[in-house]
Amino acid sequence: MTRPPALTDELLDRLRARVTASGQRSYAPVDVFTGGELATLPESTVDDVDAAVSTAAAAQQSWAKLDVAERLAVFDRFHTLLLDHREQIMDLVQAETGKARRDAFEEFCEPALVTAYYLRKASKLLRDKKKAGVLPFAVGATERRVPKGVVGIISPWNYPFALALGDLIPALIAGNAVVLKPDSQTALSPLYGAELLAQAGLPANLLQVVLGDGPTIGGAVVDASDYVGFTGSTRTGTEIAKRAGARLIGCSLELGGKNPLIVLDDADVPAAARIAARGCFANAGQLCLAIERIYVHDAIVDGFAAALVAEAEKLRLAAGYDYAADLGSLTSARAIETVSAHVDDARAKGATVLTGGHARPDLGPYFYTPTVLTDVTPEMLCHRAETFGPVVSLYSFGTDDDAVEQANDTGYGLNAGVIGRNVARATALARRLRAGTVNVNDTFASAFASTDAPMGGMGASGLGRRHGAEGLLRYTESQTVATQRVSIAAPAWLPHAGYTKVMATSLRLLRRARIR
Ligand code: NAD
Repeated sequence: MTRPPALTDELLDRLRARVTASGQRSYAPVDVFTGGELATLPESTVDDVDAAVSTAAAAQQSWAKLDVAERLAVFDRFHTLLLDHREQIMDLVQAETGKARRDAFEEFCEPALVTAYYLRKASKLLRDKKKAGVLPFAVGATERRVPKGVVGIISPWNYPFALALGDLIPALIAGNAVVLKPDSQTALSPLYGAELLAQAGLPANLLQVVLGDGPTIGGAVVDASDYVGFTGSTRTGTEIAKRAGARLIGCSLELGGKNPLIVLDDADVPAAARIAARGCFANAGQLCLAIERIYVHDAIVDGFAAALVAEAEKLRLAAGYDYAADLGSLTSARAIETVSAHVDDARAKGATVLTGGHARPDLGPYFYTPTVLTDVTPEMLCHRAETFGPVVSLYSFGTDDDAVEQANDTGYGLNAGVIGRNVARATALARRLRAGTVNVNDTFASAFASTDAPMGGMGASGLGRRHGAEGLLRYTESQTVATQRVSIAAPAWLPHAGYTKVMATSLRLLRRARIR
């Protein structure tokens, strides 16, 4: 396997130049399909992070003064550039993650959808809004949306392009500067995104990219930014919340999940198995929204298990920059160790492996077969902990209440699915699940790609939301400017007892008049 066509030496030089790094330190991300070296990239220091934040803050001053329409013009051009360069983007994403090209395409879609969405909505969301003043005509109030300043974006390796770009685009549109710290293994595709933004006319210095070890360089980003948009594990998210809290800056935390799917007794079993297979094995299961637990009604559980196994066994695993594979590689040695540890632990404690359950070193160093487990019990690791690989556990249920109770028996609350022919019944059940997104007759794409609606987690799956109004407004402070046109203070000639009577009467009238 050779390097992907897009990764020329000339492009690599341009991407390296986009990293804020003053010293000589460098590192080499892995070419995931082969286990070899993909490239060498510079490493930033804590001083580099501080310099990046200062430089970004200076650039932000004039960016924030532009009309939203002027800022959006950059993203209009960027959207075209994105679509024109999709093959290069997919090449880079595949090289640094090892995912299948169809998964790389899904990944590419997120920033395109997010950009298009905020191109339509941002002007309205960010414009000043007239609010009712305390007394009509006497006081006028306006709600403004003021950018936070410098937003730190810290992103993971599983969707490096989608999650870095998808979260930094609204931050920039809202008038902020951004310092991005992607995962070191997967920095090429976000750097390429920064390159395309520069080509689209984003002012110099407004977007800075720093690279390096998570706790040191990511920690420095949290210590210097005015707000942090983080996507990653619940463990790191908790650290970031503490660090941001100590500085009284806000953060959004998009964290892990242990996502359930409920298959009701009226489901079309072959269709349900097809939908479930995509939900469990997309991106080789390295998807925060991936289904890791399936609850199937007793009446259809055997037929569903057989159909899901057949779907899993149909999936083609391969390394390559074409569409021959349904499933790619896991991304790292650490990922395959966790997946193997979960499956081996389950097997040792009595779980049944219906299919899969082993690595495929013949295809590449980190390939693992799609795996379906049953007879999984609470003492097994994969029962509650996020596996983050192509492994799903099958359980059964008797009643709808039982299904809801089992599905909700988790500290996480990111994503869920319900499959059933009676859409009203499936939807009613979906509303009882404690998860930030729930998909009826789907597993993740319907909710995630509906960028007009918020996406994020409850409980241990995070704080805050991306997408929709919240996905943009989280990067702003609200500011209320109230103007007193007529004095509402007590006039000098009126004793205070009289003033309170007048005010109490006014409050009664205002309540009736409903003009506030
Ligand atoms: P991670 O928490 O190890 O790392 C995420 C990012 O944080 C990386 O850039 C890393 O370098 C940085 N980092 C690590 N320690 C840090 C620290 N102490 N301070 C600041 N930054 C630090 O997560 P990961 O293993 O890269 O990603 C996988 C996890 O992300 C899974 O749990 C997955 O479910 C979750 N995830 C969630 C979403 C979502 O939208 N909810 C999306 C994708 C992935």
